[in-house]
Amino acid sequence: MKITSVQTIVVNVPLSVPFSSSVGTRAATTRTVVRIRTDEGLEGLGETFRGRPTAAIIQTLTPDLIGVDPLDIETMLAKHHMVPFFYGYVGFAALAGIEMACWDLLGKVAGRPLAVLLGGYYRREIPVSGLVFKKPSHRGFRGKDLARALAEDGKALVAEQGVKVIKLKGSHDPEQDVLNMEALQEVFGGAVRLRVDPNAAWRVADTLRLLPRLQALTMDYLEDPVEGLDAMARVRREARMPLATNMCVVKPDDVPAALRLGAVDVILADVHKWGGIHPTRKLAGACEMLGLDMSMHSGSELGISTAAHLHVAAATRVINHAMDTTLTLQMGDVVNEPLTKVVGGVLPAPGGPGLGVTIDEDALARASAANERDGDSVA
Ligand code: MG
Repeated sequence: MKITSVQTIVVNVPLSVPFSSSVGTRAATTRTVVRIRTDEGLEGLGETFRGRPTAAIIQTLTPDLIGVDPLDIETMLAKHHMVPFFYGYVGFAALAGIEMACWDLLGKVAGRPLAVLLGGYYRREIPVSGLVFKKPSHRGFRGKDLARALAEDGKALVAEQGVKVIKLKGSHDPEQDVLNMEALQEVFGGAVRLRVDPNAAWRVADTLRLLPRLQALTMDYLEDPVEGLDAMARVRREARMPLATNMCVVKPDDVPAALRLGAVDVILADVHKWGGIHPTRKLAGACEMLGLDMSMHSGSELGISTAAHLHVAAATRVINHAMDTTLTLQMGDVVNEPLTKVVGGVLPAPGGPGLGVTIDEDALARASAANERDGDSVA
């Protein structure tokens, strides 16, 4: 089989409510959809992180992909191993979009779901976390008023979706974040596990001072409180709870460094940010061998990427924490089989063949036009 064309479509899908974190606020999700066609008439679908910069890298790589067998995934990744060196995070994302489409093709050729190709369904239902964050309706709220409002949001998520884990997006104000966590704990009384992720916006000294209050809660883990492996290791030495990251262990050579420093307990997988499904599975192998746990990061995936993450989570035993998703915030999708509901705190493992999703051409055209009109939404 040979690749005959590689198409990138940058899309914007609006969110039901603007999403805020310590990084910023955005009202839409921007993603890059990849369609790889072959001389055997099959099409592979991929989706990846970010918009126009990612699509530009994929277009730069396209002449080298034409005529290549898309099933030679390891060969393709080895040939382009310098892409992340030159382009960083977005380089990993570009490779991941191409690589995902190759796995989709492999599944279509085999007539089997991706999860089966990765070793089979270890789990049929994937636990997910519920996401609590500051919304425009909370504007002007501070202190206990904000904490109460966020706790009410958490309560609604548990009632509607049955999630067993709540993740609070933290801020540059660790005191307020801990107050918010205490309000969530008060509502659930330990029946729901809690995470807080300030995206490394806290200082080490503040984090160490606030640790006893967090340790009194039913913590699933503390995610990226501070920036960098050394700072994380300083916190972890004092912390009586797992530390998780999708910020300080983001590429293969971070893993031995994290282990040496004792910086983390849980690494958040993300096929887009680790350069593909195959590299993510290599990371999972390393975590299993080194005694680290895994969870799954969300970068506001649409239906193609969500399917890929669910297949990976279904087949990978070491992903033993509820995965993050912003699926229920999205006002639309680009596939004919969108998952729009979390029931009982889980999403179903998808079937196949391949990723098991097909493109809704009208929705894709609308989402593409939205990106052309509004540009990328990046925060
Ligand atoms: Mg995070």
